[in-house]
Amino acid sequence: MSDTFRAFVADEKDGKYAADFRNLTTADLPAYPVLVDVAYSTLNYKDGLAVTGKGKIVRKFPLVCGIDLAGTVAESSDANFKTGDAVLVNGWGLSESESGGYTARQRLKSGHLTRIPKAFSAKQAMAIGTAGYTSMLCVIALEKAGVKPGDGDILVTGAAGGVGSVAVALLAKLGYRVVAATGRPETHDYLKSLGAAEFIARADLDKAGRPLEKARWAGAVDSVGSKTLAMVLAQTKDEGAVAACGLAGGVDLPTSVMPFILRGVKLLGINSVTASAARREEAWGRLAQDLDIAKLDAMTSVEPLSNIKDLGERILRGETRGRVVIDVNK
Ligand code: NDP
Repeated sequence: MSDTFRAFVADEKDGKYAADFRNLTTADLPAYPVLVDVAYSTLNYKDGLAVTGKGKIVRKFPLVCGIDLAGTVAESSDANFKTGDAVLVNGWGLSESESGGYTARQRLKSGHLTRIPKAFSAKQAMAIGTAGYTSMLCVIALEKAGVKPGDGDILVTGAAGGVGSVAVALLAKLGYRVVAATGRPETHDYLKSLGAAEFIARADLDKAGRPLEKARWAGAVDSVGSKTLAMVLAQTKDEGAVAACGLAGGVDLPTSVMPFILRGVKLLGINSVTASAARREEAWGRLAQDLDIAKLDAMTSVEPLSNIKDLGERILRGETRGRVVIDVNK
């Protein structure tokens, strides 16, 4: 078998960013102990930024893009993993400072590997990917902040996106009444099938509001940021909590202290990239228990790696729906 395989690599030439396909051999991979035959990666918002160069994601050159991967251990000099083990990686600096998942083979640090739960195939693990695992971290954070299904409606912003779709499905399965905020009314039937009970237009949140608005939400999962997150905080009920993980609408947060000091609202920051192995294990265990597989399959499309440039543009324009799995061998 030839040792040459295709990867999608970001590089810098004369200070100019360029990301494109390249043929690599295993000798080009980092000198880490576990060699993985990659089957699937995914498309997350951050991948869109890295693939197109529209965001400063890659900080070391050249570097294979792709923040997620799933596959099978081909060789391991670490006793914790053996040939044939089904493994995944989410984050841990992949496509930032570590070589990523848009490749047929990758060498990885054993501490960055998570075993794929038996409930999921490699494809399903990537259908979840960083976006879905982050949704689970958001839901766990809301639970730990004391938000219960009986407390009232839970808002999910950017609902038709990757984080949003998985959050809607998880929260509905856990018994919460989910209100989905989307800028795409054509996704209402899709979101209803995932468990959304009601809808709110993206534009109703994406505007300047008062420091406190009519209290509506017991909790929220926000992947949008900016004016939307400020509005969500202003609309959150007494002692409610908002898990903030994203910036699809912008990196600013034009809010005031009023929701915090007059309603006791809690703003919960979520960072999936460097979450500890223990938090990852908890999140993946909960996903195996609380994510409806039929809903996961319904929110997932599979695309070949050869389409990655177009897909990167499309996710940044907010045109992809749910989760996109990348078949790295096509
Ligand atoms: P997607 O593009 O799949 O989802 C984002 C959704 O946000 C879109 O589908 C759209 O939903 C909505 N949206 C897009 N543009 C805008 C806009 N200008 N204003 C308001 N809403 C908008 O991305 P992901 O789900 O992969 O990621 C979502 C966000 O979460 C990203 O910012 C990503 O970087 C962040 N993230 C953070 C992580 C962390 O560890 N903190 C981990 C994973 C993701 P609709 O059409 O329904 O309105």
